[in-house]
Amino acid sequence: MTHRTIYEALEDRILTLDGGTGTSVRHYAAARGATAEVGTPAHLGIMRDIHRRYLEAGADIIETDIGYRDRASAMSAARTAREAADEYTSLTPCKPRFVAGAIYACDASAASQAEGFIDGGADMIILETATDTRGLRDGLAALEAVAAKRGEKIPVIVSATTDGHGTLPSGETVEEFYAAVSPYGPLAIGFNCSQGPQSLLQPLARLAEISEFRISAYPSAGLPDGDGNCCCTPEVFAEEVAKYMRQGLVNIIGGCCGTGPEHIALLARAAGHYMPRPKPKREIADARNTAKAVSER
Ligand SMILES: [Zn+2]
Repeated sequence: MTHRTIYEALEDRILTLDGGTGTSVRHYAAARGATAEVGTPAHLGIMRDIHRRYLEAGADIIETDIGYRDRASAMSAARTAREAADEYTSLTPCKPRFVAGAIYACDASAASQAEGFIDGGADMIILETATDTRGLRDGLAALEAVAAKRGEKIPVIVSATTDGHGTLPSGETVEEFYAAVSPYGPLAIGFNCSQGPQSLLQPLARLAEISEFRISAYPSAGLPDGDGNCCCTPEVFAEEVAKYMRQGLVNIIGGCCGTGPEHIALLARAAGHYMPRPKPKREIADARNTAKAVSER
């Protein structure tokens, strides 16, 4: 178990999430001539390697894969990530590594997955790639019920994807997204995937104007060009994400589809050069309660 809470770590610096998982899993499975369906022992073995590669690259937060169908498989996934994270934390205790249980934002089984992730040692839940706020609110309500049942606060990162116009695919604006999720008091609000790092700069700038919560961003490497190449090399990707950091827009950065350990290594290094977005005042009392609740676990 990490000694510092995610809230404390976020006061000091910009934290780096890991990169894409789904694409890495397929690549690994193909190389081993195996299939690796989510939740199988083969999949867990591959995830163990992927977690290590991202931790080696400098990630502060590693995510489970998505798509677990029940509490037991989610628990195994979190446990695998927890072991890898703790192994790296023990090497450099001043840099605690955290585990996030990742759930597709509109997944109806968010509650049972979240319970499994927390049982397995996850520090937080990420509801990611939300395409509309209706499914997202259902997910947030489900997590709130889990937290109430367990008598503990569950830090949640809420992340939407955007279309090419800087709105959610549903057409909802950044303001509507924020209004829908802010009542739930998330650890952070932000965006992931979308059409690459350039596509998130404007929505992030708008979110930063209105958000009383921390902000997270982990774009994809971009849409493939006509030749099927992903548009962002690790260097270009890190330079584009550095624009968020230079403008003071973010607290958590990382990569989504098409990004790998090379992207994350450059991001983690760049993050050390910038200050995190200042902590919103409203959360001070809340964070203290949470720190206490977590330390008492
Ligand atoms: Zn993605």
